[in-house]
Amino acid sequence: MLTLHKVSEVVNWRKTSLGDRNKISIGFVPTMGCLHEGHASLIKKSKRENDYTVVSIFVNPSQFAPGEDLDKYPRTLHDDKDLLMSLGVDVLFAPNASEMYPQGIPLKVDEQKGPFVTVLGVSEMLEGKTRPNFFRGVATVVIKLLHIVSPDVAYFGQKDIQQFVVLKTMTTQLFMDVRLEMGPIVRDSNGLALSSRNKYLCPESLNIASNIYKGLDAARHRIEREKVNVSRADILDLIQQEWAPFDDFIIDYVSVADLKTLTEVESISQGSNDKTPRYVLSCAVYVKDKMEPNCVVRLIDNILI
Ligand code: AMP
Repeated sequence: MLTLHKVSEVVNWRKTSLGDRNKISIGFVPTMGCLHEGHASLIKKSKRENDYTVVSIFVNPSQFAPGEDLDKYPRTLHDDKDLLMSLGVDVLFAPNASEMYPQGIPLKVDEQKGPFVTVLGVSEMLEGKTRPNFFRGVATVVIKLLHIVSPDVAYFGQKDIQQFVVLKTMTTQLFMDVRLEMGPIVRDSNGLALSSRNKYLCPESLNIASNIYKGLDAARHRIEREKVNVSRADILDLIQQEWAPFDDFIIDYVSVADLKTLTEVESISQGSNDKTPRYVLSCAVYVKDKMEPNCVVRLIDNILI
């Protein structure tokens, strides 16, 4: 596996090492590192579907607000490289912040300079309410990475469903020549969605956090059972009931939305035989750690219906 740190090295690799570019395909998996089986599933999919697979590891400052966990975010490059090599990745791109943001990247938006991408209409709700500049940071770094790597296909996880909708809107409406693919959420044996931020929680709290999924799943079962519409109020009630026993949970949001537009809906029906998902139940929950009372971790999860 080649490990490259400079933009020019990746561009050079892509232009000189691949033979006839029309005959080969490049799959790309952007990550922030601290890799787990969720990342690995996207990498394996890329390996199956392409001739070359490029993975990036970059903890992107512009998607963190001042006071968020940029400094604390787990960085495990040594172990990550071992995993990537075992998966047969061709190129790891691991730039530093000044390589990606030559003009510097202060966390305060009004001090930032240079080009930034905002995807209006799908960035403001859900995650965007609590983290107003988050998707501006994500879209900006992903468009830079797509320009550098120039893949045929880029892979993202359903775990960050709004991110996928934002990026799909960006690449489509900016007429970019890249296909985006979404991989399913990988969960631990209790149902908890794998996340690099799970590292912040002790085992007991991780166990409690798995009830986030159990709440969403209870709502899914109810919707699948009912042949008629299930109202938004009933869905929210059911989820709240599942979560009520856990006083370590502070709910940021629970959403029942249209999958394409992310706008909230008043009811969901599973009436038709068409299995293509049309809705997304999503949530963000702060979980207080049992061992470290000052440690509160914000976890997100979702289910497609
Ligand atoms: P991150 O390193 O958290 O920025 O994630 C990099 C990519 O991995 C994103 O597209 C995520 O949606 C995806 N991802 C993260 N966790 C999971 C998971 N549990 N299952 C599937 N994909 C995931």
